[in-house]
Amino acid sequence: MRCIFLSSLALAACLLTPAVAQQAADAVDPEVASGLSEFDTLSEAAQASLAAKTAGRPVEADTWMVAAANPLAVEAGAAVLRAGGTAADAMVAVQAVLGLVEPQSSGLGGGAFLVWYDGRSGEVTTLDGRETAPLEVTPRLFQTDEGEPMGFWDAVVGGRSVGTPGTPMLMEEAHARWGRADWAGLFGPAISLAEDGFTVSERLAGSIAGGAERLQTFSRTADYFFPGGQALQAGDRLVNGEYANTLRLIAAHGAEAFYTGPIADDIVATVRTAAGNPGVLSATDLAIYRVVERDPVCVPYRGRDVCGMGPPSSGALTVGQILGMLDRHDLAALGPDNAEAWRLIGDASRLAFADRGRYMADSDFVPMPVAGLTDAAYLDSRAALLAGETALEEVSAGAPDWDHAQLWADDTSLELPSTSHISIVDQYGNALSMTTTIENGFGSRLMVRGFLLNNELTDFSFRTQRDGLPIANRIEPGKRPRSSMSPTIVLQDGRPVLVVGSPGGSRIIGYVAQAIIAHLDWGMDVQQAVSMPHLVNRFGTYDLEEGTPAADFETALSEMGFKVNLRGLTSGLHAIALADGLRGGADPRREGIALGD
Ligand code: GLU
Repeated sequence: MRCIFLSSLALAACLLTPAVAQQAADAVDPEVASGLSEFDTLSEAAQASLAAKTAGRPVEADTWMVAAANPLAVEAGAAVLRAGGTAADAMVAVQAVLGLVEPQSSGLGGGAFLVWYDGRSGEVTTLDGRETAPLEVTPRLFQTDEGEPMGFWDAVVGGRSVGTPGTPMLMEEAHARWGRADWAGLFGPAISLAEDGFTVSERLAGSIAGGAERLQTFSRTADYFFPGGQALQAGDRLVNGEYANTLRLIAAHGAEAFYTGPIADDIVATVRTAAGNPGVLSATDLAIYRVVERDPVCVPYRGRDVCGMGPPSSGALTVGQILGMLDRHDLAALGPDNAEAWRLIGDASRLAFADRGRYMADSDFVPMPVAGLTDAAYLDSRAALLAGETALEEVSAGAPDWDHAQLWADDTSLELPSTSHISIVDQYGNALSMTTTIENGFGSRLMVRGFLLNNELTDFSFRTQRDGLPIANRIEPGKRPRSSMSPTIVLQDGRPVLVVGSPGGSRIIGYVAQAIIAHLDWGMDVQQAVSMPHLVNRFGTYDLEEGTPAADFETALSEMGFKVNLRGLTSGLHAIALADGLRGGADPRREGIALGD
């Protein structure tokens, strides 16, 4: 069966069919099969959730819900929520298990952004657990002797790319603010799985096979993923005693056990002695690391407020700009079957990405027109550029209002997809949206005490200036690299109606914006909204998800003047809708589920 985007109703009906959901999954990434066999130790509820996802139906619940990228992690979070824990408690349990069973995407050695809706106060806040650049970095970190940008992989693999991890402290900070459960107990499921062993999933096995050469650069990493020289296979039982020990220390002594003492010493030594490509992370960087609470960036859209993570993430500002421009157009009337809707979405995205490339970076280090970028009059002027009928010939950054005159050059930075997203709602009315990463799949490929270290510093622009103008997202000591992660909570009349986010490098922004449009404008339920074939435009080329109905827009969009490219688009959207109870959706392109009660 093949979906044609004839009408939103037809599309919705089509997307509901299991064959199409599976077809989309297979087309983008053959290793993400979400069959039941590899998770045969799961509870009946989790198996039912997997079946719902395969059938294209949302999971329904009344009181609490958790959606994340691996069923074992979701079950750990569900157990916490069932026992009366908060969304912050459950996140700690989910993250601890994800770092074990999906180690290529996130973990203790990485960073994360968390958006929190507080059920009691009705307020939204965010925690920034982004990695920092070591104090010893220089502007030349990612440049050759001639001052040219290094090759991406030359930069990634080794110690050079490793920033100070933020995830352990983010877990502790969230628990300290909003947790009710005993901290140490939250690590129980992950410690048991690490010690007793867990079944290697298809996705993990596929990632190991796909990245085998780089993954064997360092012996500690090679020994774990290639025991006896053979790549781990789906279905293998994997024990990670070192990870269990690391978690035990953190459970007993808090995040301090990670940032100082033997774990910290081991991280620093591993980074600084990485053969061929050492880095400059020091004990001081770890000891002074802090999670930062920041105001959310909220942008009105269709009478709701779309709230997310401000700088150093470009997520909420770019998603907000895209939606802000589109708010001035009637996408509901056009429907998802209409190429005109995709012209508007595609060019709004290009305009937003142009501003992102020029202005967005860590605002603790560079001045940024945060308010100007989503100012109503500015968005009016940017939306007016969409008035034509064909693709914009040229797209460039605009001139938002700000109180600081600064000429910037457009940046150059490359983000390849890995990462994971966690959405949680608890029985106290709290909602949590957290995107968590070690950047590239398997990060820097350096492994310490059972977890991988990030390569987040490669999210900085490798060039520091262009034509004599500085680049906002250049590397500086202590600075946080610009991110695209877009953990989002949508509010209506001050109450959350949608919790959503995704991995996917800078395409995260397009995936999240599309899911919000699908749900709010086109009336799709959360499972339909996350399963929907992707059409993403960042810098001019329109990426259409190959092997799906999105590809049917190739001719129409080409005729409008877009450069079109068919490719796999591996999002990992996890969403919870709140309206007459809870409904959860998990991306068929990954192996996660939503679970609730
Ligand atoms: N490092 C990327 C960011 O912070 C995320 C990587 C990904 O999702 O693939 O934007």
